[in-house]
Amino acid sequence: MTATKGYAAQTKDTDLAPWDFDRREVGPHDVQFDITYCGVCHSDLHQIRDEWGGGIFPMVPGHEIVGKVVAVGNEVTKFKVGDLAGTGCMVDSCRVCDNCHRGLEQYCTNGNTLTYNSLEQDKKTPTYGGYANTIVVNEDFVLHISDKLDLAAVAPLLCAGITTYSPLRHWKVGDGHKIAVLGLGGLGHMGVKFGVAFGAEVTVLSTSPRKEEDARKLGAHKFIVTSDPDQLASAAGYFDFILDTVSAEHDYNQYLTLLKTDGVHICVGAPPTPSALLAFSLIPGRKSIAGSSIGGIAETQEMLDFCAEHDIVSDIELIDIKDIQPSYERMLKGDVRYRFVIDMATL
Ligand code: NAP
Ligand code: ZN
Ligand code: ZN
Repeated sequence: MTATKGYAAQTKDTDLAPWDFDRREVGPHDVQFDITYCGVCHSDLHQIRDEWGGGIFPMVPGHEIVGKVVAVGNEVTKFKVGDLAGTGCMVDSCRVCDNCHRGLEQYCTNGNTLTYNSLEQDKKTPTYGGYANTIVVNEDFVLHISDKLDLAAVAPLLCAGITTYSPLRHWKVGDGHKIAVLGLGGLGHMGVKFGVAFGAEVTVLSTSPRKEEDARKLGAHKFIVTSDPDQLASAAGYFDFILDTVSAEHDYNQYLTLLKTDGVHICVGAPPTPSALLAFSLIPGRKSIAGSSIGGIAETQEMLDFCAEHDIVSDIELIDIKDIQPSYERMLKGDVRYRFVIDMATL
């Protein structure tokens, strides 16, 4: 067994606190890496509070994990001790279904294994995430990290990065497109960076007027305060795509008015509560509302390589793990610029 120090929520009603646990021994195909940094995703908060239901406790959150390899199994070919390594939201999948064969492990039809709050492929062993000092992962689910970029700022690419990169690539967003990024938080700010890098005109739709200057620094061309009806009305029928990163309940019908004919509203934000959708928000203009989950392993590596080539990282605030609870509170208020990353040396 691999003795591990981490931070866990013991129940959905308790704060995170130090918790020691065991990870599996390093198997023939496993990589063990010591965690240097772990990003803080809004999904961590949804899950430790069990807002999506079915939570497995104790829960060690964290799925934006980077660090340095300290051990490899004797069959491992892709990594060696001393390499930089990263793991995102998945640590395994069935590997035999159609989606796994297509590199879409995030849509594994037999159920993939998420990095935490999930079960291994034996369907009984719980997984624990990256708010911890070390992790053991099958080499096929470990990503190579370039040493050209700031490692702490790379961590959020493993979830916020791939979750925004993947749909923009899937819908071939680029030159000539007008896109809106709804919500300027961890995912949103990466959506802006990728949208700009792919050549689209990017508008941020935000509830926070104070974020306008930042949005422009991130590369956004336009900024709309969503609480101002006049500003919203001025963008009616304007966008080809809306990348919706909002974490809380909101009115999809209101934003669908901003799409052109054949426009697509892409949901990546995952509010825990259902929302009423009027068919007439879609019918005139043949509009679609769609969803997208993270990205496959090969695409995640492609995204990391793209970021290394184009010098793209997350804008981060490095925190002590003891400050995780106040950081969650700030995240809930939309007060994050634009991703908290835990410095695991403070564990
Ligand atoms: P975050 O950093 O907290 O950002 C969310 C942003 O949404 C906020 O900064 C705020 O931006 C806006 N917002 C919050 N409450 C709002 C409300 N009531 N109405 C309108 N806007 C609101 O969160 P995140 O880490 O980016 O995650 C965003 C969502 O994506 C979460 O639900 C998360 O679980 C989900 N997620 C999904 C996937 C996937 O695979 N699909 C992957 C990762 C995360 P403004 O201040 O600009 O309004
Ligand atoms: Zn995430
Ligand atoms: Zn599968």
